[in-house]
This record gives sequence, structure tokens and C-alpha cells, in this order.
Amino acid sequence: MTFNRSDDGGFRVVSGHRVAVTTGRSQRRTVDLAVIGGGPAGAATAIRAARAGASVVVFEKGVHGRDKVCGDGLTPRAVGALEELGIDLRDAHRIRGLRMIAGSKVRELDWPTTDRFPDHGAVWPRRRLDAALIDAASEAGAEVVWDAEAMPVLEGDRVVGVQADGCQVDAAMTVVAAGAQGSVARLLGADRIPDEPFGLAIRTYAATPRHADAHLEACLSLRDEHGTPIPGYGWMFPAGDGTVNIGVGALSTMKGFKKLNLNTLLDAYRRVVQDDWGLGPDLERPRAWRLPMSAQRRHGPGWVAIGDAAGLINPMNGEGIDYGLESGMLAADLFLDDPASAPARYDRLVGERFDGFLRTGRRFSFLIGHPWILRPGLRLSVSTDAIAHITLAVMGNLVDNTTPGAAGKVLWLADKTLGLADPVLRKTRATA
Ligand SMILES: Cc1cc2nc3c(=O)[nH]c(=O)nc-3n(C[C@H](O)[C@H](O)[C@H](O)COP(=O)(O)OP(=O)(O)OC[C@H]3O[C@@H](n4cnc5c(N)ncnc54)[C@H](O)[C@@H]3O)c2cc1C
Repeated sequence: MTFNRSDDGGFRVVSGHRVAVTTGRSQRRTVDLAVIGGGPAGAATAIRAARAGASVVVFEKGVHGRDKVCGDGLTPRAVGALEELGIDLRDAHRIRGLRMIAGSKVRELDWPTTDRFPDHGAVWPRRRLDAALIDAASEAGAEVVWDAEAMPVLEGDRVVGVQADGCQVDAAMTVVAAGAQGSVARLLGADRIPDEPFGLAIRTYAATPRHADAHLEACLSLRDEHGTPIPGYGWMFPAGDGTVNIGVGALSTMKGFKKLNLNTLLDAYRRVVQDDWGLGPDLERPRAWRLPMSAQRRHGPGWVAIGDAAGLINPMNGEGIDYGLESGMLAADLFLDDPASAPARYDRLVGERFDGFLRTGRRFSFLIGHPWILRPGLRLSVSTDAIAHITLAVMGNLVDNTTPGAAGKVLWLADKTLGLADPVLRKTRATA
């Protein structure tokens, strides 16, 4: 089934893109899948399902070409997911590896060659990455409705579809891909878990002669303007287009998190990298956003949550594009296989893939929230080549609980040890 309204109310076409208009008239359609949110996660679901012949409508409250506050860094894992979706990456800037800086120690390593993921990452400004993804969804036959804020429609505890601008779309399954939890999550009881950590990050762009560098740079020993170490990192992600994405992020487990001024932190970091990168002035006002790292629920009758809406961000590096793409594809595949059982199976399978690793990451974030652990921990993270390779694997989202080799073993051990220490770490967590 296609979604075929034009100028007669409901939706109209502006500059080649369909946008919603309010008519006051009640409109009703039926599709297989309704998707709330046109970021990477929602687009991945739409591409996969529409290519298989399902009727899909995506509601996006922004307009075509919208931007998302992000570092624009694509791990090798994200590149693998984009390749799986058949996205042409020639517009992205190819990245060979990561430069990690902890105090005076600098280690530059290439991404490892594995049989699971490509050996390179990329930097792709979100305005262009997200446009490429959502255009691929449209080309696959998904209907994309721009400028339309959507809410799930509940009958009892079942989501039966989506309402946007006075129109209702009934759907066999609704996919919540609305990013960091807001009103949609609140309605479905899918907010973040209050006691679990989350992150905040800010970024801007600046011109630099080093825009074509082949390595991401992460400064792990981030300090605020008073010299206090921050659990988080500062990044320089060269975009290959004359600019670099410069940003900082911090975890909510640190002392004084509520009072943390991200603009000041970014200014302090900028001063550190200014000369090395020959930075020009900010090309836009720095903008901040949330990094959700947990969700109270990620499925229910008739719906699933994917990507940030499901809290799928790695607490150890703040990256979530890869998990968004993977969870989006998984939701579509399970729906295509059997719509009735898809939500419950999605919750189980996404849990098997990510829960253990993300739990380790959250425990780790409580650990580094303690400054007396953070400082020596940072020195250790890049102290030897072997340890730096493990840090690299963690920073590149290349490890999870099933990873073979040293990184996988260390993660397994870390999970066990942190599991024992977790109650103490939480009890002694710094007061925000
Ligand atoms: C400063 C910062 C830097 C980051 N850097 C990186 C990085 O370098 N690499 C990385 O992998 N990750 C990074 N992340 C995380 C990454 O941005 C997210 O994990 C990723 O965007 C998740 O994709 P998503 O599709 O789930 O959500 P989003 O990209 O947030 O997309 C959600 C979409 O839903 C729309 N929406 C919301 N509510 C509604 C509604 N009710 N109706 C219709 N539409 C709605 C929004 O407009 C938005 O377009 C960073 C995050 C921040 C804040």
C-alpha cells in the first residue's frame, strides 16, 4: 500500500519533498510499518522493510536536510552497517584509525583488520549522512512525511499506529526511532532508567588545514577550566571538506555534572588543540544534546524502540550511529519474518547483542566518575601498545561480549570485576 495524498489535505509536496499540512479533517490510512523519526535508525528500518516490499511511512518532525548534533564519526562497525544497507560512502571522509591522547602520551593506531568489520571508519557530517539514508529509504518506496511531529496511538496497552497533524496511520507495527527520549518515550513508559548514567556532549565546526587527516583524535584526559579531570573526552573529527568537527562530552557520573558548563568545557578544549590544528573561528554556534544510555522499555504490543530511543549508546565512547543502524535493520527483519512476534523477539535479540556490553559500559562510567580512579586509569589506557589496542577496540565499538581475543577477554573480566564492585561504586558515586 502506498501513501498517496497530495494537495487535497494531509500532505503536500514542497520542493520535491512531502510535508504535512493540518487540515482539521480526520484522515486515516493503513500501512505495514509506521516509523517515528527519520534519523539513521528510522531510515535503516525503512530502507530494509521497504526494499522487501512492506508499506512504510516515516514521520520526521524536521525538514529534509535537517542536522543532528553529533561528532559525525563513523566507526568501522557503522561503515559495515552502511555497506550492508548499500549506502554509497564516497561522499564520506575515510578514516584509518584513532589517535588517543592521555596527558603527554599520544598513540596513533589504525583500526584492526577483523573478519567482522571493515578496517576503516569515516567522518560524514550528519546533514549529508542522514540525507543519504533517508533518500535511500524514499527510493526504496518508503513514504517520508517531513515537518510532522508524530505520536503513537494507543488502544489499551497496544500501539495501533501513529497520529500526526490530525491524520492517523494505522500500522501493524510502530517503530519508535525518535532519538533521545522525549514525549513519545514518556507516553510508552520507555524513558531512560533514572539511576543509570547518561551523557551530554557539545560540538561545532571550524576550518583547519588538517581537515584531510586520516585519524580521528580523542583526548581522553579532558579537564575543565579549573583543571579537574572529566570522565569523557574531547574530539577532533576531520571531515575532509575543509573543516573539523570539534566537541567534548561528559558522563553524568562525575561530581558536579549538573553544574557542568559544556560551552566552557569546549572553550577549554579548544585552547588545547588550537595551535596543533590551526583552527579558524567556529563556523556555527556550538550545540549540545543528550546521549541516552538506558531505556525502561524498548518494546510492547505493536511497537519497538530502536537506536537512541532504546538507549543504545556505548557509555565508553558516546557513539550510537552503528547501534542505531543495526537495531533498525533487526527490527525490520523480525517484522518481515513475523509481525506478531516481532516486538518480543526484537527485545530478546537486541538484548543478546548489546545488553551485556552496554551494562559493562555503564558500570565503567561509574568507575571513572571517581577522580582518583579516572587519573591512573587514563594513564593506563594508553600505557602500552597492547593496552592501547584494547582501548582502540572499545573506542571503535569493535568489541562486545562475544568478541574473541584479548579485547574480548578483558571485557569479560571487566564485566565480572565491575559487577562485583558495582554496588559500592554506585553507593559512593559522586553527588552531581
Ligand atoms: C554531541 C554528540 C556527538 C555525538 N557523536 C557521535 C559520533 O561521532 N558517532 C556516533 O556514532 N554517535 C555519536 N553521537 C550519538 C549519535 O548522534 C546518536 O546515537 C544517533 O544520532 C542515533 O540515531 P537515531 O536515529 O536513533 O536518533 P536521531 O539521530 O536523534 O534521530 C531521531 C529523529 O527523530 C525525530 N523525532 C523526534 N521525535 C519525533 C516525533 N515525535 N515525530 C517525528 N520525528 C521525531 C528527530 O527530529 C530526529 O530527526 C553523538 C551524540 C551527540 C549528542
